[in-house]
Amino acid sequence: MNTHNTQSTQPLDYDFDAKHIWHPYTSMTQPLPTYGVIAAKDRQLTLEDGRVLIDGTSSWWSCVHGYGHPDILQAMEQQLHQLSHVMFGGITHSPAIELSKKLISMTSDNLTKVFLADSGSIAVEVALKMALQYWQGRQQSQKQQILTVKNGYHGDTFAAMSVCDPQGGMHTMFGNSVTQQRFAPAPQTPFNAPLLDNDLLSIRQIMKQEHHTIAALIIEPIMQGAGGMRFYSAEYLAGLRTLCDEFNILLILDEIATGFGRTGKLFAYEHANIEADILCLGKALTGGYISLAATLCSDEVALGISDSPAGVFMHGPTFMGNPLACAAANASLSLIATNQWQAQVNAIEVQLKKELSDAIHYDNVKDVRILGAVGVLEMTSTLNTAQLQQQFIELGVWIRPFSNIIYIMPAYNITASELTQLTTAMKHVAANITKTSNERTFISHG
Ligand SMILES: *Cc1c(COP(=O)(O)O)cnc(C)c1O
Repeated sequence: MNTHNTQSTQPLDYDFDAKHIWHPYTSMTQPLPTYGVIAAKDRQLTLEDGRVLIDGTSSWWSCVHGYGHPDILQAMEQQLHQLSHVMFGGITHSPAIELSKKLISMTSDNLTKVFLADSGSIAVEVALKMALQYWQGRQQSQKQQILTVKNGYHGDTFAAMSVCDPQGGMHTMFGNSVTQQRFAPAPQTPFNAPLLDNDLLSIRQIMKQEHHTIAALIIEPIMQGAGGMRFYSAEYLAGLRTLCDEFNILLILDEIATGFGRTGKLFAYEHANIEADILCLGKALTGGYISLAATLCSDEVALGISDSPAGVFMHGPTFMGNPLACAAANASLSLIATNQWQAQVNAIEVQLKKELSDAIHYDNVKDVRILGAVGVLEMTSTLNTAQLQQQFIELGVWIRPFSNIIYIMPAYNITASELTQLTTAMKHVAANITKTSNERTFISHG
C-alpha cells in the first residue's frame, strides 16, 4: 500500500502550479486559487491540509456513483492488466463491443451506430460532421448551417464553440475564426409549464425561410447546463422534433450533461418521448473515472454518410475506443442498469425541493430551480467564484458557482445528511452575499 501513498507525503508545489499549469478558464498572470486534493472516496474530497469536503459537483457532473466505487475500480484494474490501450484502426476489442451494445440497447430504438470519442467536445464535433456529411450524401450539400438556441453550451473546440451562446460564449474573442451559425431565442417555457406560443414560432419561422441551408438543429434536451442551468418544457422539445421532420433538418441532442439519469429520466429526451437523429453522450458515461464520450446515430444518417463523396466518416482520434475507458463505462452502466439511480434521483429531487425552495425569499435570490438531481439558486447578480468557493470550503463542501448560479449536481448515492450539508451551505452563502464583483465570467462549466 505504501507505494500508493508516497506521492501524497510530498507537499504540493502550489507555487509551481500557479506559475506553470493552466487550469480551466484561468489566467497565467492572475491565477485563481487552487486547492490540493489528495484523495477522494464516496462523496468526499480530502484536501492536502486534512479537511474533508462533501462534493456537490460530482466532478463536473460526471461522478454519479461517487469516488472509489469498488465495481468500477475492479473493472479498470482488470482491464489495465489485460489491454489498457490499442489503436482502433483495423482492430477491435471486447470492451468497445460490450459498451456499444449497451449504449444501443439503452437509447432509443432508431440509434444503431456508435462512434466512441475521447471527450464531450469531440463527440459534438463528430455529431456536426456527421450531419454535414449526411447531407452531402443526400445531394443537398448546401445544407451547411447549424441551427441552435441561445444560452446553449456544447464544448470548447471550434465547431462546438460555434454553437455555444454567442454572447456568453467565446464568439467575440475569436471573431471570424468561429463559424457563424444560426441562433434562435432560447426556450422561455419552464419545465412543466404550458408551452408559450412564441417559443416554437420563432424556430418555425427560421426553418421555414432557411431550411434549404440548415443541416441540423443541436440542443441540450430539457436542461441548458453551463449556459445557465435552465430547465425548459418537454412540449417544446417534442415540438422541435416535429419541426425538424417537417423541414428536413436533423435533430442532434447533446445529452452530455443530462444523460444517465441526471434529470430523473435515463435520458432527458424521454421527458418528451422523442428520438434524436444523432445523440452525444459523455461526462457520466464512465461514472466520471476517465474521459470518454460517444456519438450515436441512426441507420439513415450512417447510410447518407456512406453516399457522401468521401464514402466514409472522416474522423478517427488516436485514443478512439480506449479499452480502459470502455471498461470503466461498462462497469458504470452496469450500476445504472440496476435502476437504483431512479429511486436515488427521485429522493434527491424531493429533498432538494424541501430544503431549497424557501431560498426564493432571500433578497439576492432571483429563482430556485430543481429537477432530478440538480438544484439551482439563480442569484440577482454575478458572483465572485473564488470568494464563494472559499466560503463553501469553510462550510465543509465543494460547490463551485459560476456566473450568477449557485448549483449542485451531486452523486446519485449521496446520503440525506450529506445532501442537507450541501443545501444548508448553499442557503447560508446565498443569504450572506454582500458584495458583487466585476469578475469576467464566460459561459462554461467552470
Ligand atoms: C460538458 C459538456 C460538453 C463538453 O464536454 P467536454 O468533455 O468538457 O469536452 C458538451 N456539451 C455539454 C452539454 C456539456 O455539458
